[in-house]
Amino acid sequence: MVFEGLSSKLQETIKKFRGKGRVTEKDVKQMMREIKLALLEADVNFKVVKDFIDKVSERAVGQDVLESLTPGQQVIKIVNEEMIDLMGSSQSKVTFSSKPPTVYMMVGLQGSGKTTTTGKLANLLRKQGKKPLLVACDVYRPAAIKQLQVVGGQLDIDVFAIENSKKPVDIAKAAVEHAISNQFDLVIIDTAGRLHIDEELMNELENIKMAVMPQEILLVVDSMTGQDAVNVAKTFNEKLGIDGIILTKLDGDTRGGAALSVKAVTGKPIKFIGTGEKLNEIEPFFPDRMASRILGMGDVLSLIEKAQEAFDEKKAMELEKKMRTQQFTLDDFLEQMQQIRKMGPLNQLLGMIPGLNANALKNVEIDEKKMVHIEAIIQSMTKEERLNPSIINGSRRKRIARGSGTTVQQVNRLLKDFENMKKMFKSMSEMTKFGKRGKKGF
Ligand code: GDP
Repeated sequence: MVFEGLSSKLQETIKKFRGKGRVTEKDVKQMMREIKLALLEADVNFKVVKDFIDKVSERAVGQDVLESLTPGQQVIKIVNEEMIDLMGSSQSKVTFSSKPPTVYMMVGLQGSGKTTTTGKLANLLRKQGKKPLLVACDVYRPAAIKQLQVVGGQLDIDVFAIENSKKPVDIAKAAVEHAISNQFDLVIIDTAGRLHIDEELMNELENIKMAVMPQEILLVVDSMTGQDAVNVAKTFNEKLGIDGIILTKLDGDTRGGAALSVKAVTGKPIKFIGTGEKLNEIEPFFPDRMASRILGMGDVLSLIEKAQEAFDEKKAMELEKKMRTQQFTLDDFLEQMQQIRKMGPLNQLLGMIPGLNANALKNVEIDEKKMVHIEAIIQSMTKEERLNPSIINGSRRKRIARGSGTTVQQVNRLLKDFENMKKMFKSMSEMTKFGKRGKKGF
């Protein structure tokens, strides 16, 4: 879970507010105090917190909010919107030159994850049809060149290096020439890192920049270092000028300060996030999705998108009717299950649902296997059996188990589950018969 501490504090505050039918200015003040504390504890830059709280407060105490029908929700909506804005409003993509090759320069301190991220980015963009070339420009540490070669080898991506050369500018220029004559359309330069920013490093980076005129200078910063990461970004931007930030190690125990402050402090957007040590663990950064994860609204957007891809609105209506009128059969059950499976691995989906935490997902993988068995069992039944499960006697159960590669116990359990589900629909439809219609579910 990203930013667990911050998330749970904000969610507690929000929970108190969610259902409130009446909200006073005093309530808003109290909420803002709690949010402020949570953000400061998460190591968000002090000035950023102050501006954020000011903006939210100003909007939240407006008449139209406090007097609306759902003031609690309105305030939460404002917090969400301002948080998205804080992180850059919309996704910032990397750009490509009109005349290939596109050159990216990766910069950052030692240990930030620069070399790993160079490989990850090449791997990601290759999937989008680019032919990348990696360039080893850290001439001070032979191990750094070797490391990039290892990463390139793992990904089967070419690495350009000039062993024994001590001139990063020459290497960078030669690499671009090499890319042009060998039809690489993307050159990603891994530059030297230091433990701290110093004049010499900045001069060297400036020289490489002047020599190859990169399309993008991407700064890699370690999110675990919180405000230090933000200060590093500020200095790199002032001295060298950067186009975007890649925030690494968001899979770790990071508090969130860097992610929430870096755009506001530097004016430069986060373009990607690193979410693990493996070379495919990089994702484009979406401010809106990050905000709703932090606020515990789940990644509702992604979930809705996935659901829209997988579900057919008309079918969902028919299904709902069947549930209400007790005509739901094992065939429908099977179809539903297949639709859910189309949406992707269950544990990923559940992670996007608001209010669920990672611990609750531990057993999900097993359930995925169970779904495969359930599909096999239903598929081994005859049409008649699926419509009318009461005819499935002992010998039929044995046949179905054999046909589906499962056991009679598993068949029994499925039939029992199905009966229980029908009973549940029955009681649900009785409950809603005289009231509102139940929500359409999947
Ligand atoms: P460099 O010195 O900046 O080139 O950093 P490296 O690429 O060598 O990375 C330093 C360490 O951080 C390595 O152990 C990487 O595996 C690790 N690392 C890089 N990115 C991530 C990430 O997104 N998540 C995690 N957990 N580890 C990362």
